[in-house]
Amino acid sequence: MNGKIKYCPICSILLEKRNMEERLRLVCPKCEWVNYENPIPAVVMFLKNQNNEILLIKRNVEPEKGKWALPSGFIEVDETTEDAAIRELKEETNIKGGIKKLIGVYIEHPAIYKSVLVIGYEVEFISGSLLAGSDCSGAKFFSSDELPPIPFSSHRKIIKDRLK
Ligand SMILES: [Zn+2]
Repeated sequence: MNGKIKYCPICSILLEKRNMEERLRLVCPKCEWVNYENPIPAVVMFLKNQNNEILLIKRNVEPEKGKWALPSGFIEVDETTEDAAIRELKEETNIKGGIKKLIGVYIEHPAIYKSVLVIGYEVEFISGSLLAGSDCSGAKFFSSDELPPIPFSSHRKIIKDRLK
């Protein structure tokens, strides 16, 4: 259970512990708001160039700052998953992409977020020249047999699932 939330965000009164769906959850006794604890939805993008090389970015934010990974990001509240994928790809790499297909859905447990629901898309190149965005300190295409260590198991699975 989340140790930090104590009060209802709507009523500001103390939440109480209740057994719901065989889990102990914090519930507001007044408005019945439930502190559900769910994975945070994120998109991860797989893009290959004409030489069959895979686009990676060097992360400039935690978790795993300084490591290479697939372009990725959290989905904003007013976005579709596809919109988020296209936006994050553009922000991180300056490449305008288009959704090609859904590769799969995965769960990741990074250091600073408890649980992340990873939606992996294959994206195709539309336009733009490669340029690392503000969230990255690098953006580069790598041959699939010369990939640097990628810290996220979900990213490694996306690459494996796409290449098999
Ligand atoms: Zn309440």
